[in-house]
Amino acid sequence: MSLLIKQVLLNNERVDVYIEHNNFTAIKPKLSISTDTVIDGSRFAILPAFYNMHTHSAMTLMRGYADDLELHAWLEDHIWPLESNLVEEHVYHGTRLAALEMIKSGTVFFNDMYFFPYGTAKAADEMGMRADIAPVLVDGMDASRSDEMIAYAKEAIDHSDDYSSRVRFAVSPHAIYTVSADTLIKSAELARKENLPYQIHISESETEVKNSLKQFGLRPVQYLESLGILSPNVTAVHCVHLDDTDRKILKNRGVTIAHCPASNMKLSSGHFDYVSAKKAGLNIVVATDGACSNNNLSMLDEMKIATLRAKVNSGDPTIAPAQEIFDMATVKAAEAAGLNAGKIEVGMLADCMLVNLNHPTLVPSGHLISDMVYSANPECIDTVICDGNILMQDRKVKNEEEIIKGANEAYSDLIKK
Ligand SMILES: [Zn+2]
Repeated sequence: MSLLIKQVLLNNERVDVYIEHNNFTAIKPKLSISTDTVIDGSRFAILPAFYNMHTHSAMTLMRGYADDLELHAWLEDHIWPLESNLVEEHVYHGTRLAALEMIKSGTVFFNDMYFFPYGTAKAADEMGMRADIAPVLVDGMDASRSDEMIAYAKEAIDHSDDYSSRVRFAVSPHAIYTVSADTLIKSAELARKENLPYQIHISESETEVKNSLKQFGLRPVQYLESLGILSPNVTAVHCVHLDDTDRKILKNRGVTIAHCPASNMKLSSGHFDYVSAKKAGLNIVVATDGACSNNNLSMLDEMKIATLRAKVNSGDPTIAPAQEIFDMATVKAAEAAGLNAGKIEVGMLADCMLVNLNHPTLVPSGHLISDMVYSANPECIDTVICDGNILMQDRKVKNEEEIIKGANEAYSDLIKK
């Protein structure tokens, strides 16, 4: 498979971009190559695609299901009871819907934490996306269930070969208030041994911090540090409530923070202190969280909310400039996922999007990155390429109608159970 994109705008220059297999192989002002597929890029600019470092993709089925509630009431009274009815088929259809929405808004990778990981993996694989998929570990703070949890995680890892190399199983305990210390420790050991990513919700709400201090005598980050969990393969999701010691630990351990500003704002979880996190040198990436607490999976929205929120919280409009935020949704996130991607450069994985420079939100077209962060909506994204394959062209994704129908039927079945 090879693909030539002719005369596309890259960093204010018109170039030909040649993709062979799954890599950018040549980028020059003019290339004379005969190839399988040619795209006329003259209306487009080429940009890196988005890498969504935290979501629960199948929760698209719960979009709008339980809005306007406090985190713990939201989880305990609404989400968890509905989730107890889930089967793999629901997760498959919910993830296909999520993948459709993500592709249509320029995302090629998602870092997932949810139940029925094979449903998620099948959907991600079929849709041509990249994904790190972790079966969520929840033992209800019962250490006697620890071996069962690790066996569950291990079983998924052992199934990795059933899917394409774009799809990888990872390790993910839900949070310190739903998972025993035993499971946290053993799952971290498993992730390190298998050289896999490990993600966990940390310090999302003030209640979590208060309870952690009461139960463990330590703040959540310091509790995880005391258990030896934190290392560079860890993505700490949320981190809304950090003190200076927490930040220092996360920095020293090389942990990545997945900042999910829309979810944090919707659940009124508190103010993520962007300025202090940057000052501490932390690696921050932007992520959407699930569609039940967002309620969409658009990284465009997430970037805009992230920068606006950082500006409001700090009272400083120079904080979180467009390029910095764009990098947190593209190259920094790809790096955190261990992918050689996120830049349009020879030798990098061929993931990208073509944006329509005649779309009203990108006109006049002199400030592309600024427009992508502050102005763009998904409609300006014409083409999405992942691993050298075209997932969307002319805004059309394969099997769209069937995906929507499947998701609607899965939702009806889920709520009737
Ligand atoms: Zn989450």
